[in-house]
Parts: sequence; C-alpha cells; structure tokens
Amino acid sequence: MSSQSAMVTRREAIAGLGSLGALIILPGGGAAQEPPYLLGEWTGDSFAPMHAIRDGLSRAPLPPPERRVDIAVIGGGLAGLAVASLLQDRDLIVLERESEPGGVAKSKRWRDVDYALGSAYIIDLSEPFGGFYETLGLAPRPVSAPVDTALTGVAGEGDPRDGKWRSAYDDLKALLRRLHDSPDFPGMPISQASAPALALDRLSLFDFLRSEHIDAELFRFLDAFCLSALGAPAAEISAYAGVNFLSEINSPIYAFPGGNAAIARAMAARISRAGEGRIVTGAAVYAIEPAEGGYARIGWFDALHPGEPRCLEARWAVVAAPYFFAGRVLRGVDPATTATMTSQKQGSYLVANCCFEGPPPELRYDSWALGAQSFSDAISATAVLPAAERPKNHSVLTVYAPFRDPHAGRLRLLAGDRAALAAPIVEELRRFLPEALGAARLVEARLTRWGHHHLIAAPGIVATMRALPKRIGNVLLAHSDGQGMPAVESALVEALSAVEIIKKG
Ligand SMILES: Cc1cc2nc3c(=O)[nH]c(=O)nc-3n(C[C@H](O)[C@H](O)[C@H](O)COP(=O)(O)OP(=O)(O)OC[C@H]3O[C@@H](n4cnc5c(N)ncnc54)[C@H](O)[C@@H]3O)c2cc1C
Repeated sequence: MSSQSAMVTRREAIAGLGSLGALIILPGGGAAQEPPYLLGEWTGDSFAPMHAIRDGLSRAPLPPPERRVDIAVIGGGLAGLAVASLLQDRDLIVLERESEPGGVAKSKRWRDVDYALGSAYIIDLSEPFGGFYETLGLAPRPVSAPVDTALTGVAGEGDPRDGKWRSAYDDLKALLRRLHDSPDFPGMPISQASAPALALDRLSLFDFLRSEHIDAELFRFLDAFCLSALGAPAAEISAYAGVNFLSEINSPIYAFPGGNAAIARAMAARISRAGEGRIVTGAAVYAIEPAEGGYARIGWFDALHPGEPRCLEARWAVVAAPYFFAGRVLRGVDPATTATMTSQKQGSYLVANCCFEGPPPELRYDSWALGAQSFSDAISATAVLPAAERPKNHSVLTVYAPFRDPHAGRLRLLAGDRAALAAPIVEELRRFLPEALGAARLVEARLTRWGHHHLIAAPGIVATMRALPKRIGNVLLAHSDGQGMPAVESALVEALSAVEIIKKG
C-alpha cells in the first residue's frame, strides 16, 4: 500500500461515509470506538501484493524459469478452478494470490454456522451448469426466491410488494418472464446474443424499464439490486445485464451452506486429488509474456516476500484474474486490448457477517433494505439449512454493503477502520430488520473487504467484452469479466470456453 493512496482527504471521507450513499448514521454521532460487540480480523482481498505490482513490479524483469508445465492457471477463483478441474488430467498448476482459493466465493465458520464472505447463491441449474455441479458431487438446495423480503424501514410498513407496489411488481415480473421466454433474451454466453438482445446493451436498465412503463416507484428496489449485484444503480447499468440478472425474481434460487464457496472447495479438492501441490496459494503473478518455442513465461512472487520473483513456463497460460488487473500484467499484447481491459470500472464492497447469540430471528433467506444508506441486503446464513438442522441459540446474518462511490469505498477499506465501517450497518439493521437484533445479541461483526470486487456492468459492457479477444497466442482469458456480468455462471461459461480451446489444441 503506498502511503499516498492510503491517505483519505476530508472530501473523500465524506463522500464515502455511507456504503450506499453520502449519509451515514453513527450511534451517538461519532465513529464507534468500542462497539458492544467484537470485531473480527479482516478477511477478503489482501491489498499489499497487488499494490506492489501496480507500483512497479509489473515492469520488473522475469528471472530464468524454474519449471515448465502444460497449463498455468493464473487466479484460483471459480473460473480458474473450473478450468483446472476440467483439465485435471493435464500437467497443470494454479497460481493464486490469496492464502486460499475461491476468489470472491469463500466462506468461514462461526461455531457450527458456515457463512459466505461474498458469493452466495446460484440461479441456473440447466446445462452445462447443473451437470457440472453434479460431477462435483454437489446438490444445490432451493432456498425460495432471491428477493424474499423487501423492507422500507418504516415501522408498521411491511413489504411494499404486498401492498402499494403489488401491481407494479407484477408488471415487472410479467415483462421479465416474456423476455426470458423469447429467443432474444439477453443470455449467456454473450457470443450467442441476438441483435435485439444486443440492442438492450446500448440502453441503461432504467431507460429500458421506463420505456416499458415500469413504475418509477420500483427503482428504490431496482437500484439496491443493481448496486449489489452489478455495481451501480439501474441508470448506470446495461439493460442487457440488468434484465439477465433481474430475471431471477421469477425463479427459485439455490444455495449451499456457506454459499458458493462450496463449489470452489469441491473443485479444489478434485484438482488436488489428481495431484498434490497443483494449487499454489500466496502466489501473486506480476507478468505474463511470450517466450521462445510457443511457451508463455509467467513471473510471480510469494505474496509474503515480494522481493523474490520466480518464474515458470507454460504451453498455455489461462488468465483467470479480473481484466482490469490482467491487462496490467500481460506483456506483448496490443495496447488497445490492454487499455480496454484496464479501463473497466470496478466496484468496491464490504460484507459484514453479524454473529448473534440467542434465539435466531425468523428471517427468510434474503432481505432487502430499500433506501438504506449502509447496506443493500442481508442473507440469513442458516436459512439454507433444513429447519430441523438450524441452531436454536445462535445465528449469522451476512450483510451486503456495496459502496455507491467505488473509489471512496476503496479508500475506506484501505484505511481499515472496522469499528467505523461496522457501526452504521449495525445501526441500520436495527431499523430495517429489528427482529435480527430483537431477542438475539450481536456478539461479533466479521468484516470482509473486496477492493475491486467485480466490474460495473455499464451500458455497452457486453459489446466491449464481445470485441475483446479470448485468445492472445497461447494466453487465454477466462474470468467472469469476459461475460460482462459478475456471476457464477459467467465464470463457468468462460472456463468452459478456455477448456474447449485447449482441448482443440
Ligand atoms: C460480495 C459478492 C457477492 C456475490 N454474490 C453472488 C451470488 O450470490 N451469485 C452469483 O452468481 N454471483 C455472485 N457474485 C459474483 C460471482 O461470485 C463472481 O462473478 C465469480 O465468483 C467470479 O469468479 P472468477 O473466478 O471469475 O473471479 P474471482 O472470484 O475474481 O477470482 C479471481 C482470482 O484471481 C486471483 N488473482 C487476482 N490477481 C491475481 C494475481 N496477480 N496472481 C494470482 N492470483 C490472482 C484472485 O485472488 C482470485 O482468487 C458475487 C460477488 C461478490 C463480490
């Protein structure tokens, strides 16, 4: 972390105070110095290795290669792990910067409750996804609807979709159902999109839905949904991505205890079963460049010892790291391509896992807080369990707090003041989900930071991603960014495409 980037100006601090907006609600009017609950150590992104690369290492020379492999996968998130698990019989290695694979699909445990640090549920069990989960021995559980509860935070006012929004919400669902059943649905892979679907990408979701006469009232919900899932409010999101994601309100969703970390763990186990030591964690890649004989040379360093660069050669380099970052470490690539990759705007995200003692609240899976300043929605970590298996005297609520201003959010995450970040969330939970803090007592808040959690799916994103090459010589791009929509399905689609190219040779 450079000291300059860690500095927060007063303007920036004010701009970034609330996660969702400019307002912040602090109990007693100031940042909580000693909150009446424990604050766990940070989880999520480790910034130091990435900033060391940004601040100079990306230009550092590569040492002589230590070894050669058939396939080197750079990044052990869902996409990279999927590539490696589908090619498990090959001579391969996965280089992962963090101490654990999974990317944004990781989990931790409090007592006997597994909770997600990021990615939580899946939508699509059709082929090829359903079959893939089956080969991993996973049985996704239906957990009702993605938007189980929508709350205004006004006492006595329930879910507006059961009251004043009922017909507007029904209109939205009907529109999405019609689009979903049409051949022009804006789906994945984006390479197969029809011309009418691509026309959606030129519009914002806001403009598209308004042109379809969707009630403006609903945008309180739509903005929270888009910010949480796609990085910005509806007016700043591609209608292609927005319609694709929103369609989930018409279908059941599926989850595992601890969220999508279960998929990552199953893949990692499969890769390791085929050969120990193939997933190298704490390995930050700082350069990927063409080498003689059709090889790619990959420079990396032990994230704990940035001064000791290492190198290996691979017949195939599969870059499963975010594009904004991959563009910085790819060498010998057309500058226009890398410029497009590095210019993708990234959101920043705080996830607060709130651990409660006492009788668990009767919360459904996903509760949305409409108009809340500090978080968008909260997932009950135990709602995925059958009722008989839920703990009786403790629970965990996974609270999603995307920053409305990604840059200001990153500065706050870098500054790392956990008490100040947790306080407004806890305060607003009291208003929107009073039952969460009702009979139960908050004993610990565990914060996870995602500095560049995923790209913002702005209008034009699908066209941009379609225009970028998937293959540059023997370097393949295989990150969810390639679909322009941050989802498990995007990661798998990209992985499958890379695997197909490699299998064809
Ligand atoms: C908070 C949050 C909640 C989400 N919830 C859902 C959800 O419920 N359902 C859903 O479908 N999607 C969800 N998503 C999105 C979805 O989970 C992601 O799009 C998907 O998991 C991304 O997988 P990936 O492998 O493409 O990328 P990532 O998860 O970004 O993985 C990239 C990996 O590359 C590694 N890496 C990066 N740079 C380097 C380097 N230089 N050297 C070595 N390794 C490197 C990273 O450490 C990381 O492990 C969520 C995302 C977030 C942030």
